[in-house]
Amino acid sequence: MTKNYTEQFTGSFTQQEPIAQAGIDAVLAVMGHGRLHRYNTVDGEIAEAALLEEEFATYTGAKYCLAVASGGYAMTTAMRACGVKHGDKVLTNAFTLAPVPGAIAAVGAAPVFVGVTENLVIDLDDLAAKIGQASVLLLSHMRGHICDMDALMALCDGAGVTVIEDCAHTMGAEWNGKPSGRWGKFGCYSTQTYKHMNSGEGGLLISDDSDGMARAIMMSGSYMLFERHRAAPPPETFKQIKYETPNISGRMDNLRAAILRPQLAGLKTQCDRWNALYREVEAGLKDTPGLKLIDRPAAEDFVASSFQFLLLDWKPDAVQDVITRCLKRGVELKWFGGAEPTGFTSRYDSWRYAASEPMPKSDRILAGIIDMRLPLTFSTQDCAQIARIIRAEVGAVWQSGAGAIT
Ligand SMILES: *Cc1c(COP(=O)(O)O)cnc(C)c1O
Repeated sequence: MTKNYTEQFTGSFTQQEPIAQAGIDAVLAVMGHGRLHRYNTVDGEIAEAALLEEEFATYTGAKYCLAVASGGYAMTTAMRACGVKHGDKVLTNAFTLAPVPGAIAAVGAAPVFVGVTENLVIDLDDLAAKIGQASVLLLSHMRGHICDMDALMALCDGAGVTVIEDCAHTMGAEWNGKPSGRWGKFGCYSTQTYKHMNSGEGGLLISDDSDGMARAIMMSGSYMLFERHRAAPPPETFKQIKYETPNISGRMDNLRAAILRPQLAGLKTQCDRWNALYREVEAGLKDTPGLKLIDRPAAEDFVASSFQFLLLDWKPDAVQDVITRCLKRGVELKWFGGAEPTGFTSRYDSWRYAASEPMPKSDRILAGIIDMRLPLTFSTQDCAQIARIIRAEVGAVWQSGAGAIT
């Protein structure tokens, strides 16, 4: 392996692994019989969607699970099931992605943005200061960084605030031995292509709350067929709820469920592979002058399908210079702090449909966050090379003196 200054990375940062043969076979079987809708079953048949729910409930340890059309749908459904209404406020992270404030807007509510720390988690002091403003927190475990969940739950329980977890980036992750998604009243997951399981589009919702889950199931479009679910509350829970809950269709179909079931069986292995890639990049960037790595607490059992670091207090031009130089060498970095939202990067003040207060402490951090995907099509050697390239280019800009603000 060459380690010269101009080595070039040639991999694709958006290329996921192909669907494994077991998934292809399962999908072909569903297509072969044509019963793609989850409630279209023959006598004695259990739909793939119902089996997926049962298996995901077992995997997370949740009592109940519902498979839905997207992660965004899981979040809106969870909020509706918690009674969030038009005109309500919902606490959420300032550092997150567009589907999160979008889900809040979709239920007619307004986000109250809570700041971010240098560890890229929600700022618990800022949360404590704002907690009286809403009765629900939609907590985004953005880019897989998990805050001190024991402290967060103590704070929210003490204030009577219901927690809904956005686990789009933490499927398979834990805090203090308890899965992400099991701390709040609901855990919401996405199975779209860039997440930890890939069905193109899709989502999963988990909960131990029987009334809440019964409402979610009715909303998803179960008609009166909820007894066909295998990870649902008992039928008597639906007695009143079935009359009171509108249908807001967002079911998952059997094709997607069939693709996902074999992936769930192999999820642990995939999580370990992601973390091996993460550790390789982390080791390669250690002690790079001007570059701050993110501390990962021992209680955080993360799944790193992406990598972040900080160019804290750098001049914007210098940050842009690093990004441009890395891109020339095949390394695609995203800058969350860029003034204009590009690609999937955005920050709280770019969602202009939602009012926000200025957050100077968070702005300083957001302005320095650099983000990079780690698809499983990369090898650890790829990751070592990526780290060498970033290290060299950060070093070149830093040494020229362009990095420091003063
Ligand atoms: C992808 C994503 C979602 C929503 O997922 P979709 O399935 O695309 O609706 C929610 N939160 C975060 C942080 C995400 O990245």
